[in-house]
Order: sequence, then structure tokens, then C-alpha cells
Amino acid sequence: MTQPTGASAAPIQRRVFANRTLNLRAVKAIGCDMDYTLIHYRHDLWERRAYEHVVRRMGEGGWPVSGLAFDHEFATRGLIIDLELGNLVKASRFGFVLRACHGTRVLAHDEQRQVYSRVLVDLSEPRWVFLNTLFSLSEATLYAQLVDRLDAGQITHPVGYRDLYEAVRSSVNVAHMEGALKADIMRDPDTFVVPDPELPLALLDLKHSGKTLLLITNSEWTYTQAMMSYAFDRHLPKGQTFRDLFDVIMVEARKPEFFTASNPLYEVMEDSGLLKPVAGTLERGRVYYGGNARSVEKFLGVPGEEILYIGDHVYADVHVTKDVLRWRTALIVRELEDEILAADRFKAKQAELTRLMAQKIELEQEQAWLRLCLQRIEHGYAPDAAGPNSTKIKASLHELRSALAELDPKVAALAQEAAELGHRGWGPLMRAGSDKSRMARQLERYADVYTSRVSNLRYYGPFAYLRPPQSKLPHDQ
Ligand code: IMP
Ligand code: MG
Repeated sequence: MTQPTGASAAPIQRRVFANRTLNLRAVKAIGCDMDYTLIHYRHDLWERRAYEHVVRRMGEGGWPVSGLAFDHEFATRGLIIDLELGNLVKASRFGFVLRACHGTRVLAHDEQRQVYSRVLVDLSEPRWVFLNTLFSLSEATLYAQLVDRLDAGQITHPVGYRDLYEAVRSSVNVAHMEGALKADIMRDPDTFVVPDPELPLALLDLKHSGKTLLLITNSEWTYTQAMMSYAFDRHLPKGQTFRDLFDVIMVEARKPEFFTASNPLYEVMEDSGLLKPVAGTLERGRVYYGGNARSVEKFLGVPGEEILYIGDHVYADVHVTKDVLRWRTALIVRELEDEILAADRFKAKQAELTRLMAQKIELEQEQAWLRLCLQRIEHGYAPDAAGPNSTKIKASLHELRSALAELDPKVAALAQEAAELGHRGWGPLMRAGSDKSRMARQLERYADVYTSRVSNLRYYGPFAYLRPPQSKLPHDQ
């Protein structure tokens, strides 16, 4: 019998990871987001270009932006802006802040502890802005740089950290909508798009198994058409275009509202570009503008648990979809690829770190026990306590202190290296110190499965059963 070669052949960084069981056979329809899901951009270049448009716009509005330059390594997805203090923070799954920058200045450990020791990040409060997508990086970077300028007294009109953020947010919003930025991308897709020739096959596998495929994007039709055609058409069987892959295309969908509200539905008249109101249901082969998830459910005629939505935006694509509609969800996390490979290269050192930590824990337990024995002897409240006398205990404690002093720098050096995997400053996307990060928490709560790119599904196919590993609790051995 031949050995399975599909999923088991997926390289580690291309695997699909499950938080909850997902039987792909039971999925009748798959909705796909476009930007950073079906189309991956060189986010350093895309965000630089977006940043330049935003800076130009803010400069025209009188903001002191001259000399500012985009630093694509400053921020990462999953970080959180603190609008009250003008900070960028990384938080654990429980909301403890583990690292923070004020403007672009990294807070020293003591300062950060002092500022955040009594603060828990609660994303439902308006104080916090979670960076949901790679599109958030230019915004976070420019905001931090302008916080520096505000502190330096270079912004003369009376604004606070929150007003400053609103100004940046609104300029970013306009840059995405006004057309010039998108025109730059459409003019030169070779520069901005990371090709994935394996993606059409993954979608063809799903389509030929009988699943309905939908493209649901917040992008405009002109942009969607240009990008999809660039990324797909040359990799599809002769005579086919991306239009043949998708039963229905919905543009300017206004997610997350798309999933919660009843926005009106229009058909895009492709010859004129005009919009025609739609009173009835969706029809195959058409392109729609706006609309809502209920119209999709009505068209498909299947319950929410048979619809899978795949997207990259933690809030707009998976959070609301899962919370409100109970659709099945998949989050695309491209950053995982580098992180998984970095963790793999670190494997031997990680094993050494684990070994040293086990030693450290044992020595500390022994130390705690001997201290207690000494206390019992010295205070004389436990007369029956048997064991070594206080001189012997003190000698052992001395030895333990030396052993720990020798161990600690080795542990610290390796722990530091582990904390920098993925990003020198902020560390791995899914981890915050030894805990899971807030990003990991969002992901496990709202995404049934996650993976670095949609084409990874080609290793599994449309009939796969994706199961989570058994989750571990602190008392599991
Ligand atoms: P999707 O990921 O395919 O749904 O498309 C995301 C679309 O949202 C792209 O066209 C982006 O340019 C656009 N976008 C990203 N951030 C913003 C924003 O802040 N305001 C308006 N549009 C945005
Ligand atoms: Mg997207």
C-alpha cells in the first residue's frame, strides 16, 4: 500500500493547525478574503508606500512629518496601541503588558512595570487598538513617530495622544480609499505581490470536490480584478481565469459590518462599472458590491457550520464571523512561516534551555525546602522536625546559591535568544514571555484553524479532517 504523501509531506511551516476539529468534507462553501489571504504582498514595500501616501497627506494638513521614514521592523501584527499613554505594547493572553514603547522609545523593564503593574489590557475598552492585520503596520509606526514629535513640542496645536491617533487613522483610511495608493500597486504588481503559483491548484481541488467558492473582499472591483487576474490567470488551466474559480464575487463588502448588518446589495455591471440594486438573491457568475452575510447564507441554503471563511484580519474576518454567525473560520498568518523555521533552527538550544530550566527548578525547590527547615529549627516551633542540623543546612544553601548563580546567566542568555525568535524586539507573534500572547488568544478563540497561506490546503485536500492536538493543562505530566 502506498504511504500517504499529502499532509504528512507538508513542510512544518506550511501545515494547517487546528484549534477545533474541522471536517473539510462537511464544508459546503468557502468564502475567501483577498488582500493578505489570496494575495500576499511584500508588506515592507506595500506598507512603505501606504506610509508615504499618509505622510504626504498629513504634511499637507500641517502636521510636522518632514524627515520621517518608514521602519518596517518597528511594529508587528498582534501588538496593541495604548491611546491613553501614546504607547505600543505587547500583552499576554491575560492582558499583562510584557513590553512597551512610548512613541518609538522602548521602555526599560522597571519603567514598564511601573506604568503597567496595575493595568490589564482589555480590548473591549476604547483605550486599546489591536493591530489586526499587516495593513496596520504603517499606521502604528507613524503614530509612534508622531508621539515622539508631540512630546518634543513639535506639534503646536492642542492635541492629546488619542486625537493624534484619530488624525493618523483618518489619513490612513483616506489613503486606502482615494485611489492613488492602489494605482501604484496596480501599476507594478511584480514589486508588491508575492506570487504563489500553488494557490490555484488548492482552490481547484476544493472547487472540483463540489464546494461553492466565494470571494468576499473589502477591496474595490477594479483593484480586485487587477490583482486576482495578475495572481491567478497565468497559473490556471488554459482558457480559465480567476472568474471560473469563484461562484460569486463580492467587493467593497465592508467587513466586519458585512457579517452583522444588512447592508444593501448591488450588482456591478461589468461593462459600465455602474451599480444596479439587487432585490432577489445572488446568482452564480456575478460580481456584487456591498451585501451581507445573510444574503450569502440564503444563496447557499446551508447552515453556518457548513460555511468556512478564510481571512487574515483577526477582527473583521474571523472574530465577528465566529461570534455572530458561527461560521467556521480559518485565519491566515503568513508570519508563522519565518517563526516556525526560526523555532526549528533553535530546537537544539531550546532542548538545552528546557534541560537547564528543569535543573533550575529542582535547585530552587531544594533551596525553598532547606530554608523552611532552617526556619523551623531557628524558630523552634516544630520540635519534632527531623533532618540535618542548621550548620549542615547553611552549607547546603551556600552550595545551592553558587550552583544557581552559575546556572542563571546560561538560562538568561538562552531565554533571551528564545524571546527574540521571529522579531528581535517584540519576539514571537504567538508568545509573550513564557505565556501565550494576546494575539494567540484571539486566534485560538476565533479561528477554528490557522495556517500561513491558503495554498497550504493543497497538502490536505477537500476531504481532510483537521484535528487539534490534545490541549495541555499545567497538571498534565
Ligand atoms: P480584504 O482583505 O480583501 O478584505 O481587503 C482589504 C481592503 O481594505 C484593501 O483594499 C485595503 O486597501 C483596505 N483597507 C485596509 N485598511 C484600510 C483602512 O484603514 N481604511 C479603508 N480601507 C482599508
Ligand atoms: Mg484581508
